[in-house]
Amino acid sequence: MKKVAQAALALLFLALMIIALWRWPINGWGSVAWMASMFAINIIRAPFAKANKDNVITEKTQATKEAVLLGLVSLGGYLPLIHLATGWFSFANYTVPFWVPVIGALTLIPTLYLFWRSHVDLGSNWSVTTELREEHTLVTRGVYNRVRHPMYTAIWLLFLMQPLLVHNWIAGFSAPIAFGIMYVIRVPYEEAMMRQKFGSAYDEYCERSGRLVPKLF
Ligand code: SAH
Repeated sequence: MKKVAQAALALLFLALMIIALWRWPINGWGSVAWMASMFAINIIRAPFAKANKDNVITEKTQATKEAVLLGLVSLGGYLPLIHLATGWFSFANYTVPFWVPVIGALTLIPTLYLFWRSHVDLGSNWSVTTELREEHTLVTRGVYNRVRHPMYTAIWLLFLMQPLLVHNWIAGFSAPIAFGIMYVIRVPYEEAMMRQKFGSAYDEYCERSGRLVPKLF
């Protein structure tokens, strides 16, 4: 049943993408860059999701909260796609100077690299929800060396570019607002889980690293 629902959602996602792509002259080319980034994050994630699907999970934190928050972020991601495909929220459109989507699109390139790199560095320890696997290790190298949440840095940047690319007060801001809520609620219990598991090693790591950007001093 879960597989059928997932396949139906994937098909809906693709259908909306195709219609939205076809409507690019109405939505502006920034919308194409935004769709390309949504497509890219799914492509980047797919091999890691496949590689980690048989991980033995020893601890799951805040399962109900996680389901609600992930649902909220998915909604934030789907809303622009629905708007771009249907024009339902056109009453809330705004216009921007030509260089605004240029900045948005250029920012996506290093951001997608960081998103991919954080998956590579976390390797088998990566999961969509907040959980620990059997033989979980604390990663403090690569992009995790000076930053504790580089994947969230990438997601923040990706979603903050959304209003620069999708020029609509509802569809442009849905994902950054949804992710902002998730970030504020999730990070404290994710860090508490890591601290409980890795103790002083995690405390030392926190001391020398920043949450989203490297600590300067
Ligand atoms: N918050 C991190 C990782 C997001 S993926 C980031 O933004 O980069 C979420 C999972 O990653 C969590 O369930 C946790 O088990 C794992 N995780 C987070 N930080 C980790 C680290 N430094 N080492 C190993 N696993 C980590």
